Amino acid sequence: MNGQHALKALDAWRVAPGATLDLAALDADAHPASGGKRSTDEARLKDLGATLGELQGRLYANQQKAVLLVLQGMDASGKDGVVRRVFSQVSPLGVRAHAFAVPAGSETRHDFLWRVHAQTPPRGEIAIFNRSHYEDVVVASVRNLVPAPQVTRRLQHIRHFEQMLVDEGTVVLKLFLHLSYEEQGERLRDRLATREKQWKLQASDIADRAHWKTFRRAWERAIEATSTDAAPWYVVPANSRFQRDLMVAELMVHHLAALHLEYPPATLPPDTIIP
Ligand code: AMP
Ligand code: MG
Repeated sequence: MNGQHALKALDAWRVAPGATLDLAALDADAHPASGGKRSTDEARLKDLGATLGELQGRLYANQQKAVLLVLQGMDASGKDGVVRRVFSQVSPLGVRAHAFAVPAGSETRHDFLWRVHAQTPPRGEIAIFNRSHYEDVVVASVRNLVPAPQVTRRLQHIRHFEQMLVDEGTVVLKLFLHLSYEEQGERLRDRLATREKQWKLQASDIADRAHWKTFRRAWERAIEATSTDAAPWYVVPANSRFQRDLMVAELMVHHLAALHLEYPPATLPPDTIIP
């Protein structure tokens, strides 16, 4: 699939402002970005990777706009994988990924957006958030880290914060990698059994899995409250790693291309003599 065709199919996965979200009703095995054939999908993903690299070059040359990609999803939904694979052809000069862990040290003594704002992209760059300020409403409400009215206020602060970023020249795109409970079980068992992956598995992952539905509800609530025209959320079916990457790549390329960034004009006349 390509161009406009792909985008229409992906639009159905954008959470419309004010809409309710029922993740259980969405198929984590869906392939919305697929053209139907594995070989053409593979060629498409390669093309998109190259296009993304090219568009990022324009973004960098322009220094006018910034792009913030927020990646969220349950454990093992593929946030690390997206960072590694979708951006493999983008110059490290222009993209920065940041993983947010449990707040520690001075982070805990500031407001929840303090550490987040510090990692937002400067103009000319792409920032990828592997987890984000959304943990401060989702984990915070599931584990009762802050009272419910404060969670509600935080959701409003998030809307205003993201609107401010957009108003000041940042494109904000938020993706929820949507994994099924069964597929998460497979992946966590695989982590347990694979030497290179064991370090990733923690007791808290198993504990969180026991609260799957509570987390899902908290995610629905957070996404519903914060999907705006300025900073939209998309649900990305993530049971297939490859199809997940394809959809993320399509969305990134679309949102970057929509900026219509041109290279800045030459600074020297073309007949400049270079000795
Ligand atoms: P991982 O991304 O698997 O390395 O795990 C990071 C852990 O930090 C996850 O369990 C997150 O839920 C947790 N985390 C990240 N940000 C926050 C936050 N703001 N509040 C509470 N927990 C958080
Ligand atoms: Mg983890």
